[in-house]
Order: sequence, then C-alpha cells, then structure tokens
Amino acid sequence: MDFSYEQTTKIIFGKGKISRIGAVAKEYGTVALLVTVPEFPAVSALYQKVKAYLKEAGLRVVHFDGVVPNPTTESVDAGTELARQEQVDVVIGLGGGSSMDTAKAIAMAAVNPGRAWDYLFFKTPQPEKTLPCIAVTTTSGTGSQVTQVAVMTETETCTKSAVFNNLIYPRAALVDPELMLTVPEHITASTGFDAFCHCFESYLNVKSSLYTDIIALEGIRMTAKYLRRAVRDPGDIEAREGMAWADTCGGLAIANAGVTLPHGVGMTISGHCPQIMHGESLALTYPSFLRFTRPAAVEKFAAVGRILEPGLFGASDEEASYECCEAIDRMLKEIGMWISFRRFGVSTQTIRRIADRSHDLPDYQANPVIAEIDEIYRQLMDGYERT
Ligand code: NAD
Repeated sequence: MDFSYEQTTKIIFGKGKISRIGAVAKEYGTVALLVTVPEFPAVSALYQKVKAYLKEAGLRVVHFDGVVPNPTTESVDAGTELARQEQVDVVIGLGGGSSMDTAKAIAMAAVNPGRAWDYLFFKTPQPEKTLPCIAVTTTSGTGSQVTQVAVMTETETCTKSAVFNNLIYPRAALVDPELMLTVPEHITASTGFDAFCHCFESYLNVKSSLYTDIIALEGIRMTAKYLRRAVRDPGDIEAREGMAWADTCGGLAIANAGVTLPHGVGMTISGHCPQIMHGESLALTYPSFLRFTRPAAVEKFAAVGRILEPGLFGASDEEASYECCEAIDRMLKEIGMWISFRRFGVSTQTIRRIADRSHDLPDYQANPVIAEIDEIYRQLMDGYERT
C-alpha cells in the first residue's frame, strides 16, 4: 500500500465536446498550431469545424498537416520549424497517437535548443519548458492524450524511441467519441487492441499500484464489452464511448505504471517496419507473450480471465489464468487481428535484427518475468506464420 500517482491533464470527455476547442485553446494564447495528418475525406469536415471553432474564439490558426503514422524525426523537425517561425502560443494535436505525439514533441522542441530527438528519455539535459499542448484524440487507442510520452522514429537507424517527461503532459485532453465514428474497422481493431494492452500491461507491471489497478481493470472491462461491437459496427456510438473511456483509462494507467515486454518489442518492430501499425505490432507477439508470462502472474491473469469470461468465476486461478490466454486469442481472431509477419512481407532476417535490439528499451524489465533475447526471438518467430 505504497504509491504516488501523477496526472496533470484536464480531461474533457463526452459527445460533442469538440465544440469546446476554441475556449480551451484561448486560455493559452492567440496563435494556435494545428497538427494533423494530411486531409482526407473522412476527416475533412472535422478539420474545417475545428478551424472554425478556433477562429470564432479569436485565434489565428497555423496548420501543420505533415504528420505521418509512426511519426518520423523529419516530420517532427518540420513541424518544430514552423512553430518557431510562426511564434505560436499553443499546439493542438488532432488525430490518433501519431498526431498527438507529434504535437507534444513539437510543443516541447519549439522552445528548446536543437530538435525533439535530442530529448529522448535517457538523454541529458532534459527540457525545462514547453509550449502548452492540447490533445484531441480521434482514435481509441494510444491514451496519448493523457500521457507524458511522445513516440517517434529515426528512420535511418530504424530506432523508435520516446520523449518521456512530465512537462509534456497535454494541458487538456478533449475526448469526443463522435470523432471516432469515421475510424474504419481495421484501425478500430488495431487501436482498440492497443488500449486493451495498455490496461493489461500496466496491471501486470511490477510498478502497478492500487490506484492504477482500478483504472486498468475498468479499461479491460470496457474493452471486453465494447471492442467487438465497435469493430462490427463503426457507427455504434455507445461502443465508441465505451472504447474512448477504455483508451483514456489505458493512458492514465500507463502514465503511472508503464507498459511491459510487448510494448518495448512492438516499438522495435515498428522502428524496423513502419508499415506495421502500433496495435498490429502488439498483436504479433501477444499470444506467445501471454503463455510465457502467465506462470509468473497467475492471480492477475485469472482476474482478467474472469472479466473476459464471466463463466470463470467458479474456476481455480490456474484454470482462469489459462483461459485468459485463450480468451485474448479469441478476441484477436474476432476483431481480425490474428496476424503474422509473413502477411507484412517481413523476412526472418529482419525478425532476427528486431530480436537483437529488443532490449534497447527498458519496458521488458517491468514484466513479471524477464525475457532474454533468445526468448523474444522465439516469441517473434511464433508470430511469423499464423493460421
Ligand atoms: P495513428 O495516429 O497513426 O492513426 C492511424 C490511422 O488512422 C492514420 O492513417 C489516421 O489518418 C487514421 N485515423 C485517425 N483518426 C481517424 C478518424 N477519426 N477517421 C478516420 N481515420 C482516422 O494511429 P494510433 O494507433 O492512434 O497512434 C499510433 C502512434 O502512437 C504510434 O507511433 C505509437 O507508438 C504511438 N503511441 C503513443 C503513446 C503515448 O503515450 N504517447 C502510447 C501508445 C502508442
């Protein structure tokens, strides 16, 4: 019974809350940098609406629309340059984790010497200031709207890493489930599985606490109830609300407890294979990660198993923990995420390289049992071909 919990982001949650963006941004100045992926039909109306709300509130809007999925340092640097040139007061990330992370990194780098990549979590000096950032999430997802993390990739070294600093918690997170109605089926599945993994891994994490456990288990309950529904029917607003809440719970939980082995390995996968979405990188190793970790965390696996399969309430912990792994496999199959490296055209040589760098990030150390490089290679190869 010993923990501390930090969260500095104001959360504004609910249908229609996007209409608050002007008033929220206005609290931080008069020039806003809007950070997004390039416009495409599903998001055109949203971009126009957000710009109109900001202008109505008296803000000048500068639009950086150069975000790329699995953000690159080139993209973050270009956005930073624009923020400096235009002397913006506030940065607004509008989109999935890629847009929000790019916005957080730009907000920080714009008022510090050098580039965002100079401030990765293990480097010194760390930044001492940042511009305020507002995160508006359109996926459910990464939880980035409530975390102190900004992930990016240095393409030439295949390195995906992160700025991790309490300064970069967004000042406000706008979570409006109506913005997720346009997310297609497969992206709903991939991002929704990411939200589940945040909750599951923070619950398993050796740094989990009484506080983060409550939040993580709530997120798991929401995912169990709503992820399949959201994938089946993208227009199901109740399911979108449930997943938006699961996503926010996941972010709140990882901001304080952290993630474990699959996320560290997943980051290394996307560093080498940027065509693989973050949620996909997790699905590739999850089945074997589960079987490897279960014996070291039987009680926690059993607790999650009983949420996923309420019929397990009378079962022993041993049985419920085993069934937890089976239930997560079934969820992956039902949402179309039973995927393999072969499908992405990844060679076994690349898998070997990923395994060799899979201890670069420290997340594996927070798993209930430590996986050595050869074990991680085995887990990766388990996802090479899957039927
Ligand atoms: P994403 O932001 O890359 O978006 C995926 C795709 O969905 C994009 O093509 C985007 O255009 C599309 N999209 C987004 N919103 C849409 C909408 N409303 N309608 C239609 N299409 C839409 O994906 P993501 O999974 O949200 O973010 C992934 C990134 O976040 C990765 O780089 C990952 O490492 C990072 N991440 C960050 C944190 C954190 O705490 N900062 C946590 C987990 C993951």
